[in-house]
Amino acid sequence: MVVVMAADATDEQAGGVVELVRKAGGDAFVSRGVSRTIIGLTGDVDHFATLNLASQPGVSDVVRISVPYKLVSREHRRERSVIRVAGVPIGPDTLTVIAGPCAVETAEQTLESARMAKAAGASLLRGGAYKPRSSPYAFQGLGEAGLRILADVRAETGLPVVTEVVDPGDVDLVASYADMLQVGTRNMQNFPLLQAVGGAGKPVMLKRGMNATIEEWLMAAEYIAQRGNLDIVLCERGIRTFEKATRNTLDISAVPVAQRLSHLPVIVDPSHSGGRRDLVLPLSRAAIAVGADGIIVDVHPRPEAALCDGPQALIESDLRELASVAAHLSPLVGRTRVNPCLTATGARANLVGQLA
Ligand code: PEP
Ligand code: MN
Repeated sequence: MVVVMAADATDEQAGGVVELVRKAGGDAFVSRGVSRTIIGLTGDVDHFATLNLASQPGVSDVVRISVPYKLVSREHRRERSVIRVAGVPIGPDTLTVIAGPCAVETAEQTLESARMAKAAGASLLRGGAYKPRSSPYAFQGLGEAGLRILADVRAETGLPVVTEVVDPGDVDLVASYADMLQVGTRNMQNFPLLQAVGGAGKPVMLKRGMNATIEEWLMAAEYIAQRGNLDIVLCERGIRTFEKATRNTLDISAVPVAQRLSHLPVIVDPSHSGGRRDLVLPLSRAAIAVGADGIIVDVHPRPEAALCDGPQALIESDLRELASVAAHLSPLVGRTRVNPCLTATGARANLVGQLA
């Protein structure tokens, strides 16, 4: 059972709930978030039902939930959520395209990538300043200098920025530049990091761990939510299987399954799933058709010179095709509010295709 306190509830009112529950033989764990306080209850739930917690001062909601991920479950919120990233919606009516370089390398490369992304109808810019690389000898990212570049490119293009944070100690710094914090596949169960981003006051994109079940993914999201931050977008980015032809195996069924279990939006990363440029479009088609709320793709003006993940980066012509695919498929799957730029680019790409 979870008690959600009203936004203006006082510490004394939260304390009153805890005292009531403890007197009734249960235990209560208070999480104070930026926008709300949440109290998780353990013990005899049937007995708590007799305490009339819903009418205690400061209580906004009392929710009885059977699954281990509570706040992010559809038992807690029946309607699918819309998450806004600096005003850009991600949710059931939209198809949000996030695009940008895998890593911020230079100011020019980031600006060029952002312009390519924007022209193709992307609403948000991605780009890593802190890169969690498998090899310690690989490019690790520019750190704060990369964050400054992202902020400059946002000022230049108007695209809000999604960027990864890998260390709990960097969360405040990254949050001071970013519009959305990304938690990568390798950190999906880094619980101190999840708690830190939960308290950072910014929306979070939580990538699925490459070895994680959907339930583990949702419990990781719960760590963020438990800190009072329900602005979470789930991202399926492929899982490890025995198959070696692709970098990871895109678990396409995870999209409708996660959407059924959780009210949070679910997007797909076809770039890190397939790991190959030629697979990004087919996997994007699959993602949109299955009902993903958005896609996030790597782009690069010169993939052959990229410091990270060049083989999967899209170039300008791929992006036009992607816009065409997105513009044509979106209305078929009930996405009524897509970025007009996506539709325009898609229509242009289609016309070019017809003329060619
Ligand atoms: C990324 O998006 O840059 C990235 C590292 O992705 P993942 O965590 O899915 O590997
Ligand atoms: Mn990458």
